[in-house]
Parts: sequence; structure tokens; C-alpha cells
Amino acid sequence: MVTMNGWSDARESSVTRIVVGDDANGATVRDGDVARAFVWLLEQLHERVEKVAVVNGWRSRAFNTQVGGAAGSNHISGTAVDVNGARHPFELHQPRGTPYVSGFSAAQERAVRDVLRDAGGLFVWGLDFPRGRRDAMHFELARGTTLADVRAFVGRVTEQKSGPVPEEDDMPTVDEIARAVWGYKNRELERVDTYALLRRTNANAQAAAKGVVDVKLLAEAIARALPAGAMTKAQVNRVARVAAKDVLRQA
Ligand SMILES: [Zn+2]
Repeated sequence: MVTMNGWSDARESSVTRIVVGDDANGATVRDGDVARAFVWLLEQLHERVEKVAVVNGWRSRAFNTQVGGAAGSNHISGTAVDVNGARHPFELHQPRGTPYVSGFSAAQERAVRDVLRDAGGLFVWGLDFPRGRRDAMHFELARGTTLADVRAFVGRVTEQKSGPVPEEDDMPTVDEIARAVWGYKNRELERVDTYALLRRTNANAQAAAKGVVDVKLLAEAIARALPAGAMTKAQVNRVARVAAKDVLRQA
């Protein structure tokens, strides 16, 4: 089946978790270049509009129905995200007759439009949905966007960001970064690997405080403990957060 923008339903195996801004848990979206495009979008919103604190992405059809998402919502294909949803409501979920407020100031709305313009029409904003269904938290791939369009866009913004190109093949993959994070040993960490440290931290926290662990702080600690060099701090941080969350879920 396909969702409203023409992309096919995504399975759990074809989505990937992205972690941007202050959102320690991250959100899942369609993998590959779609995920890279959404990372760009969220980073731009975080820097230019407001701090990104909570992102929601992919939903199965069943879960979409359960949470009252639109039938055929692009969340089902992993090509939509909701940003800071508590602040930017979906009009349909508001009490009838309530005037709609986006939760963004006029200046912020302009800044969002600047970001969307920079993306060259790749994304559509839910605030532009028809009256009655406006959804200011929501951003999705525009209808008719192809994978080739997404790939071209990602190529363009990646080049802008990194300047004269490191060959794509030389960039560390997420897996390589994660392996480096887990493999690193450090005297201050009593020569345990990071994975074991996380497990122990989680066990202690669960015993002491019903499992409340600050994944963001944990990730920052890992990032600090890593040697400077091969990876940027942001890369380490992002992977550490994802990995920390996985470990905590398994524990
Ligand atoms: Zn949405």
C-alpha cells in the first residue's frame, strides 16, 4: 500500500532511528537518503526556528489508527515527522470551534518557510494543510517526490556542509562509528567497554530510581571520553545516544 505522498508503507526493518537536537530518544524514519534528508530538516529547524525537543516519525498502520492519524498518513511510509507536537497541535484534535494556533510566532513561521525554501520544495509543512486539518508539528516529503529527488538533495546539502568533498566511501558509516564507540577503552572507565558501562549504569539506576537514566548526559560522557580525531563530536554524540537507548531497552 502507499501513503498520501505516493511512498509505499515502511516496515520496521526499513526504518532507521535518527537523533537530532535535544531529542535524546530520536525518531524512526525511512532509512537511507530519506533519513539523511530529515536529519538536515530537523537540524535546520533546531538551529533556525526552535530547539527540537521531541520528534515522532514512522508509525505502523495499526498504530497510526490507534493514535488518530489521518488515513494514509505519510508517517506510515516513514516520510513524515512531527516536531515538538505538544506545542504545535493538529487542528483536527482540537475541541471544535477553538481558533487554530500553530504555536509558532510570526518570525518563527517565516524562519520555517526559509528552511523549506532552502530545501527546494522537498518538504511540505502541515501548517499549509487545508483549514480544519492544519498540523503545525508535521513535516513530510512532498507528493511526487522520488528517491532520486531525495538523493540529489542530500548530495547538495552534504557538499555544502563539508566543503571540498571527502569521498563518500571514506565517510565512516554509522556502524563503523558505533563500533568505535563500543570498542573504546579508557583507564578512567576502569577499562570496561562503553557497552558494559551503560548496562551497569542502567542496572544501578533501575534499582535506585525506577530506571530513569539521562541518555543525553550519558552520551555526552561517552563523547568526552573518546579521543579527538577520527569522528566529529556531533557524530559520536548521535551514535552514542542511539546506542545508549538500544542498550537501555534491552536491559
Ligand atoms: Zn504528523
